[in-house]
Amino acid sequence: MKKVLVLEDEPGIRSFVVINLKRSGYYPIEAESGEEAMDLIAKHPDIAIALLDVMLPDIDGFEVCRRIRASGSRMGVIMLTAMSQEMDKLTGLMTGADDYITKPFSPAELIARVDAVFRRVENKTETEEETELCYGPFTMNVRNRTLEKNGQRKRLTQTEFAIMNLFMENVGKALSRDDILVSVWGAEYTGELKIVDVNIRRLRMKIEDDPTYPTYITTVWGYGYKWGS
Ligand code: CA
Repeated sequence: MKKVLVLEDEPGIRSFVVINLKRSGYYPIEAESGEEAMDLIAKHPDIAIALLDVMLPDIDGFEVCRRIRASGSRMGVIMLTAMSQEMDKLTGLMTGADDYITKPFSPAELIARVDAVFRRVENKTETEEETELCYGPFTMNVRNRTLEKNGQRKRLTQTEFAIMNLFMENVGKALSRDDILVSVWGAEYTGELKIVDVNIRRLRMKIEDDPTYPTYITTVWGYGYKWGS
């Protein structure tokens, strides 16, 4: 979902922006004050872009932008500035905005700017973290926490997924049962090592061609398990 925060205190402008975003496939979230915007950002960590009006009844749009950046968020920020606020452009970019639009603006102009920033935000997140791990017929999407074998979705528990993730990141490496336990359950986990074996057995039933003769998750006798050859 392409969530866009629309912070604008003038209802007319806000609904104009909201309608045009919806038409272009975005999911607008509306705020009319700076504080309300900050609350909504906290509630929706997946907001991709924030459109920030500068002149607001409480804290101004620059301050909202500053707070967004201070929180470490990588969301795109576009300032909505009035024609008379020439300085706003510079100040906006200085506080960490990606772009600005001068009022009044056309729907085409608005969407063109939003699309451009959205593309940048998307690319940024994709290059900064590896989201797909592949091995043989398996494709794992780390962000969505899904695993497919030959394009077929496998239903894994969060624990099974965590084990698979560990395997996919350590292809061909023998992992001791202790390694697996610490990595998946955490160092403070005090249960038995057997829980690793139980999960491996269940995982094999889900992902092996023949769970009796596993070829992907192989046993390393007296030690642990290995993913791949
Ligand atoms: Ca305003």
